Amino acid sequence: MSAKGKCLCGRVQYTFTHRLSGLDVCHCKNCQRQSGAAFVPFVAIPMVALQLTGSPKAFMDNDTESGKTVARHFCGDCGSPLYVVVEAAPQTAYVAVGTLDDTHDLRPECHGWTASKQEWIQILDSATQHEFEPHLQPESTVPE
Ligand SMILES: [Zn+2]
Ligand SMILES: [Zn+2]
Repeated sequence: MSAKGKCLCGRVQYTFTHRLSGLDVCHCKNCQRQSGAAFVPFVAIPMVALQLTGSPKAFMDNDTESGKTVARHFCGDCGSPLYVVVEAAPQTAYVAVGTLDDTHDLRPECHGWTASKQEWIQILDSATQHEFEPHLQPESTVPE
């Protein structure tokens, strides 16, 4: 399917064509801190499929629970988190789902870092839960 999204101010926009898998919902403290939200759902797509207009900034987040660097791409004008790239999967963009235009078909597939989940969040879906680092899917480098 083809999808599009943008940051809050619209200076960064993106499109991609890829079959979307389920959401990887991240409850880690760093995602909470960057987003200001309780958790951040991501959808994984091959980096090569992501067509960007505008120039997001990247913050290299080295102080992570996993010890691995997370490149956090965001709009330098309005601050919207757009996508992250993790060291273990350098060819995958994890797109922050709140920036997508259309999210109605998306459902969680996995919850990661639930050890740092905010207390009031009750996970009621049947997606797998990982107290710490979720298992990454094999990288797909080909747009589908
Ligand atoms: Zn923006
Ligand atoms: Zn996270």
